[in-house]
Amino acid sequence: MDHQHKVGLKDDLSRLTRPPYSKPDPKDERLAKYKGNCFCGSVEFELFDDPLDASYCHCRDCQRLHGAPYQWAAIFHKTDMHFTKGQEDLIFYSVPTKATEYVLPVKISCAVCHGPIADEGRRMMLVFPELVQFDFNLLPGPFRATHHMFYGSRVEDVHDDIPKFLGKKGECPFEGESKGPESIDKLTKWRTEHS
Ligand SMILES: [Zn+2]
Ligand SMILES: [Zn+2]
Repeated sequence: MDHQHKVGLKDDLSRLTRPPYSKPDPKDERLAKYKGNCFCGSVEFELFDDPLDASYCHCRDCQRLHGAPYQWAAIFHKTDMHFTKGQEDLIFYSVPTKATEYVLPVKISCAVCHGPIADEGRRMMLVFPELVQFDFNLLPGPFRATHHMFYGSRVEDVHDDIPKFLGKKGECPFEGESKGPESIDKLTKWRTEHS
């Protein structure tokens, strides 16, 4: 697990000087490759490049926080994202501290519609592709999930041909075993053997 990076109230606003909150460097002449917005439109953002990777996460946290069987996320460098509207309409929730505070890693939602927008880590942003404006019948390839994570806690089998892991990407490849505690035991054993 990532080390938590604590920031106090004073540092909270210092985020406004850093991507994805700060204005892009004037020397950076890249045009937005994709645009996105929250459900109600209070918050808008731009993405300057394709995602580095995309994944489906079946962990219990994602299931409960998203009210969904699994979460779909596309990974970007922070410098490849920029909030263009609604900075003041963002709310932050820290899963490790269970508090509405800006402590990385943090979940970002819209204060108006409460829709999830992204997860912010120390270096990366996990953006939820459902919010990106493109024709979902013509989903750009880089947004397609390349793997399933924490597949042992899935609520349903997914029949596709991308790799499935019981932990994070690369951790304990899924070999058709059942789900639940058995999978957690297997992952724990795998981590012990590979640490
Ligand atoms: Zn909204
Ligand atoms: Zn998850």
